[in-house]
Amino acid sequence: MRETAPVKTALLYEGKAKRVYACADEETCIVSYTDAATAYNGLKKGFIPGKGAVVNRVTNALMRYLSSEGIPTHYIRELSDTETLVRRVRMLPLEVIVRNYTSGSLAHRLGLEEGLPLTTPVLEFNYKSDALDDPLVNTCHILSFGWASEEQVQRMKALSLRVNTLLTGYLDRLGIRLVDFKLEYGVTGGGELLLADEISPDTCRFWDIKTGEKLDKDRFRRDMGGVTEAYQEVMRRFCAQAAC
Ligand code: UDP
Repeated sequence: MRETAPVKTALLYEGKAKRVYACADEETCIVSYTDAATAYNGLKKGFIPGKGAVVNRVTNALMRYLSSEGIPTHYIRELSDTETLVRRVRMLPLEVIVRNYTSGSLAHRLGLEEGLPLTTPVLEFNYKSDALDDPLVNTCHILSFGWASEEQVQRMKALSLRVNTLLTGYLDRLGIRLVDFKLEYGVTGGGELLLADEISPDTCRFWDIKTGEKLDKDRFRRDMGGVTEAYQEVMRRFCAQAAC
C-alpha cells in the first residue's frame, strides 16, 4: 500500500538552495531542494537547471547506503524528485570537512597546488556563520563556546572518517574520486546524534577518476562552464547503478 504524503504545516527554514518544512508529526520534517546555486557565501548567485533533483536523489542514494552500513542518518524516505522526509533535528552549528586530496581553502591556506594526495585524511571543523564566512575552528573552540559536547565531537570525528571510507569505495565504483566533502550533524529531541543535511555535488568535490574532470560545484564557483552537464553526469552514474 502506498504511504500518504505528509502535509507541510509551516516553513521552518529557508536556506540558499533548500527549504525545510514542519509536518504534523513533530519528529519529522520535509526538505525541499531548489535549482538555486550560490558560492562564496552568497556573493555569487545563479541557477543550475535540474540541480534540486540531482542533489535530492544523490543525497538520498548516499544516505540509504550509509544507513545500511550502520551510520545513523536523518533520512526517512524520498517523497518526490526534489523532496524528502527526514527526522527533525537541532542542527549543530558546525561543518565537518574531510579531505583526501588538496583543494579549495586548504590548498589556498597552505599555498599548495590542488590534487595532491593526503597521506591520511584531513578532518576540519568550520563554525557555521555567514557573517564570519564559516571560520576554521578546532576542538578547543567547539568545547569552549559550547557548540557541541566532547562526546559529540568524538562521535562526529569517528563517524565522518567512517563515512569517508564508505563514500570513497562507493564513488570509486562510479568512476568518481572523492577529493573532499562537507558533513553536518544534528541532535534529535531524544539526544541522538544523526548525520543530516545533504551529500551532493554541491557539498563534495567529485573528480572523474580517469580524466580528472570536475563533476561538482567548482564548475559553477570558477565559471568553468558545463555545470548542468556535470550534475547530470553524476546523476547518470548513480542511476546506472540503480541507486536512485
Ligand atoms: N563545502 C560546503 N559548504 C561550505 C564550505 C565547504 O559544502 O560552506 C564543501 C566544499 O564543496 C568542498 C569541501 O566542503 O567539497 C571543502 O571546501 P573548502 O573548505 O575547500 O572551501 P571552498 O573552497 O569550497 O570555499
